[in-house]
Amino acid sequence: MSIREPAEILIVGGGITGVTAAVSLRDEGYRGGITIVEASTDCTDHPPLSKRVLVSGVAQGDLALLPRERADALNVNIIAGVEARAIDAAAHTVSLSDGRLLSAEAIVVAVGSEPNQLEGYSAHPRVMTLRDYDDALAIRKHGGAGSTVVVVGGGFIGAEVAASLHECGAHVVIVEPHEIPGAHLLGQTLARWLHAMHTEHGVDVRRTRVSAIDGGAFAGDDRMRVALVDGSSIEADLVVVGVGVSARVIAGAERLVPPTGLLISPSHHWDAARLDGIDAAALLLGNSPAVRGAPWYWSDRYGHHIEVVGDLVGNGSSGAPFDVVRPGNAVFRVDGDVLLGAASIDDPMTVRAARRMIDRRVQVDREALADPSLSLRRMLRA
Ligand SMILES: Cc1cc2nc3c(=O)[nH]c(=O)nc-3n(C[C@H](O)[C@H](O)[C@H](O)COP(=O)(O)OP(=O)(O)OC[C@H]3O[C@@H](n4cnc5c(N)ncnc54)[C@H](O)[C@@H]3O)c2cc1C
Repeated sequence: MSIREPAEILIVGGGITGVTAAVSLRDEGYRGGITIVEASTDCTDHPPLSKRVLVSGVAQGDLALLPRERADALNVNIIAGVEARAIDAAAHTVSLSDGRLLSAEAIVVAVGSEPNQLEGYSAHPRVMTLRDYDDALAIRKHGGAGSTVVVVGGGFIGAEVAASLHECGAHVVIVEPHEIPGAHLLGQTLARWLHAMHTEHGVDVRRTRVSAIDGGAFAGDDRMRVALVDGSSIEADLVVVGVGVSARVIAGAERLVPPTGLLISPSHHWDAARLDGIDAAALLLGNSPAVRGAPWYWSDRYGHHIEVVGDLVGNGSSGAPFDVVRPGNAVFRVDGDVLLGAASIDDPMTVRAARRMIDRRVQVDREALADPSLSLRRMLRA
């Protein structure tokens, strides 16, 4: 180690980044004090919230990122149910919502992002966003069998919520202005396949925007009238808004200076957020962060498992068409004979092999990639 270890490290935010930072610090042999301050009642994993929790109401304890026994074994102190309100970077202190002032030689802020609201309806009790466990329970409560749910936004969260509530027996209407949401991230082919799943499963997709929501705000069981810009309207029990996220802000956090003060920008995907935590631990201990491989993430909907690795939309230089498609199941982005990105539906092995190919810059053959009878794992070994 090239710098003196801080005697005490305070991590604000017990999501995957913060918890991974704590665990990595111990993995790297750090023996000083570690405290995590988490606003929710527990350090809870987020991806299951739009999936298993909506469909079957998993207990919060089953989603714990750092169960109590493990935290004790690692000697990590968790202060849960308390928010960090402000940070004094010069004094190395954090003031908490319960009035306490904590000090630590090093402070890491990993508070993630919060969902954007539907303007004008952020306080409406039946217009909800999904970020934590309580949000998921509230959505599950009002979006069960026989209910009508309007999902605003057909991106990752909106699509997963729509699929899960559809599975619960709700009548789901997705309101999404773009013809193929997600094409800017996933490319046209994959984004089109994924968006088509909604109508294939009988979910109503309206290509428009919400113009107004009337009713439902005061009388607990009142239905709402959701008016759309195309002139139609929907009588709904619940509106779930999935229109992107914005980084959370804590006063003073922007003045933290590495290596004893780290403000971590939120990553949109779980694995990248986990790696941010590992990098944070390395920086705190004066080590260099490891070189990252191609970014990888997944999504689940309508019983299908989607995985994506690398860059599906970036520019290449060869002039050849970029997309190589295995009909209905996988897409690859290729520049010359270099694989840039890959994605599959219900074929994680292909994406995992593609990940190694991207990281090792293995030369690829476009025709072989397009041939569904050829295994990428075998191509990797050849
Ligand atoms: C419903 C849902 C489904 C998802 N599904 C997938 C998926 O299928 N695949 C995928 O790759 N990614 C998925 N993601 C994204 C992934 O979960 C995030 O990228 C990841 O959780 C980000 O981790 P983080 O630690 O940076 O932030 P977060 O997970 O947001 O954690 C930040 C923590 O900080 C806490 N906090 C906030 N403010 C304060 C404060 N002032 N004081 C103390 N604590 C505070 C929060 O309560 C939270 O626990 C999903 C996200 C959500 C919400």
